[in-house]
Amino acid sequence: MEIVPVPLLSDNYGYLLIDPDNKRAAIVDCSEAAPVLAEVTRRGLRLEAILSTHHHYDHIGGNEEVARAIPGIRVLGSRADLQRVPALTDPLADGEELEVIGRRGRALFIPAHTSGHLAYFFAQDGPDVFTGDTLFAARCGRLFEGSPAQMMQSLAKLAALPDATRVWCGHEYTEKNLRFAHHLEPANADIAAKLARVEAQRKEGRPTVPSTIGEEKRTNPFLRSESAELRRTLHERFPELPNDAVAVFAKTRELKDNF
Ligand code: ZN
Ligand code: FE
Repeated sequence: MEIVPVPLLSDNYGYLLIDPDNKRAAIVDCSEAAPVLAEVTRRGLRLEAILSTHHHYDHIGGNEEVARAIPGIRVLGSRADLQRVPALTDPLADGEELEVIGRRGRALFIPAHTSGHLAYFFAQDGPDVFTGDTLFAARCGRLFEGSPAQMMQSLAKLAALPDATRVWCGHEYTEKNLRFAHHLEPANADIAAKLARVEAQRKEGRPTVPSTIGEEKRTNPFLRSESAELRRTLHERFPELPNDAVAVFAKTRELKDNF
C-alpha cells in the first residue's frame, strides 16, 4: 500500500491509500472534493472509499460531493458520528475490523478532540496509523468534546501500537508544536534534533509526516507527562500544580492553547 499525503485547505492533509498494482485507492479525511478528485484522475486511480476520522468540516467537507461524483463509494466513519459524518455508509465501533483496497485495517475509538473520533490502523505494509486531530507530531488536539483524562486514555491507546508504526496526522503543525515541546524540555536532545530537521523540511516546503509512535514517545509533551524535565518547567511557573500525570497533562494542554 502506497500512502500519498494530499495537502488540502490551508494546512490539512488528506491521505491517498493506493494499491499500485491495480490502481485501487481510498482517501483518509477528504476535506475538499476537487483537489482529491483531481489527484485521483491524474494518477489514473479508482477511488473506492473515504475514511473519515471525525466530523469537523476540515476533515469531511468533501464527502458529499465525492459521494455524488462516485456513486456507490463507501464512506467509513465512527458509529458515534452517524448524524455528523456526511454520506456515512460503514459505521465502525472501537476495535472493529475493516477492509479497503484489499487491505485489512482496524478502527480505534479515540474520543476527546471530538466525542466520536476514530483512528485507522493498518498492520500490513506498515504498520501505519491515521490519527486525525487526536495525535499530531509533537502535540495532541484540542479538547472540544472530552476531558484531559479521556484524551490521555485515547493517546495511551495509540502509544500502545508498535514503536515503528508510522503516524499520519491531520495537519501540518509540526514545527510550531516542536517549538512548544522544546520550550518545555530544553535539554531533550530528541526534540532539539527533530526541530532542526523539521525547520529544514519546512524551508523546502516539504511535509513533515509521517512521524512514528516511537518518535512521538520521545518528543511529544502530551505523551511525556512523566518527564522530570517537563514537570520541573511547569512547577517553576506553577508551584501549586499537583505532581500527578493528569494535572501535568491538563496544564500542558492549557499552556499550548496560549503558546
Ligand atoms: Zn478537528
Ligand atoms: Fe482539523
